[in-house]
Amino acid sequence: METKVIKIDRKNIRKEDLAEAGEILRSGGLVAFPTETVYGLGGDGLNPEASKKIYAAKGRPSDNPLIVHIADVKDIEKLALEIPELAWKLAEKFWPGPMTMILKKGDAVPKTTTGGLDTVAIRLPSDEIARTLIRESGCFIAAPSANSSGRPSPTKAEHVIEDLSGKIDMIIDGGSCDIGLESSIIDLSGEKPLILRPGFITQEDFETVAKGVEYDKAVIAKTPDKNIVAKAPGMKYRHYAPKGSITIVEGEATDVARYINEKVSESEKAGVRTAVICSDENKDRYLCKNIYDLGSRKHEIDITSALFDVLRQLDTDGIGVIFAESFDELRLSQAIMNRLRKAAGYNTVKV
Ligand code: AMP
Ligand code: MG
Repeated sequence: METKVIKIDRKNIRKEDLAEAGEILRSGGLVAFPTETVYGLGGDGLNPEASKKIYAAKGRPSDNPLIVHIADVKDIEKLALEIPELAWKLAEKFWPGPMTMILKKGDAVPKTTTGGLDTVAIRLPSDEIARTLIRESGCFIAAPSANSSGRPSPTKAEHVIEDLSGKIDMIIDGGSCDIGLESSIIDLSGEKPLILRPGFITQEDFETVAKGVEYDKAVIAKTPDKNIVAKAPGMKYRHYAPKGSITIVEGEATDVARYINEKVSESEKAGVRTAVICSDENKDRYLCKNIYDLGSRKHEIDITSALFDVLRQLDTDGIGVIFAESFDELRLSQAIMNRLRKAAGYNTVKV
């Protein structure tokens, strides 16, 4: 299949330019598109054939459900049942934006879209291209991240091209994603609201609307525990890992640098391409040929938007051994460290 790539100018989004993409979606095809979190691989969420194609293109296990994207808050009613008051309050506060809500599924949503579950994940993105596309298509767009299953989520059209070219109908290039980490997922289908995936909207943010919002234990675990299974089916799968091995090093900045420099020197002497993932604040402390600076700790969104790009770049650059700083003290620490720990296979050293 030939994949058409179209560029959309964010300063001048015209719905005519998204007409062909809308037609592809209505007729059951697949279109990758930018959102403020990561690029999504979209298909008609109410068409079982389209969701099957999404799983096939990504090589995604069929029990890993998709998020359905809407452009108008009221459309929750067309997708979900027994909508609690809290859902409307959260929607008012955090939509459009990087929050996904899990609710009881309505009959219109096929189980192919929800990975066989009786619940449905819904998000109203703030990205203007995404919203224009949803409206133009007239569909509720089921869209997981537009990467091959297991690879880091795509934050640039180039990443989508790398993974899915030849497998889907169209890729809409809208430049880099602002946030660069997947949405925060909050489950409202149980007795208590539970955060199933940490993202840009944190527990403290949620608690401004409802008290007693907790993280699912599995998603904040520093080491995997076989007895705690993540409630979000997607969280159990291996994710984000580059080909090289990552070690996260925790401690005071000077101790971390001393430890990493020692290890880098050993690894380089052994002839292995070695890299350090760090922040602006510390980059001059490291003696290593390959420094991947995520940005300043004072500007956390630079760090989130760079992370997946760097994880991909490590493979492109053929890096075999990687040492990463920890980002434990940041507002977005849960979101960042959840991805970094998975990428590292939970391999952490305290110094
Ligand atoms: P992705 O957009 O690729 O990050 O994948 C969507 C994520 O949402 C996966 O991790 C799923 O496990 C999660 N998700 C989607 N629907 C549900 C649901 N009904 N219940 C729990 N988690 C869900
Ligand atoms: Mg994903």
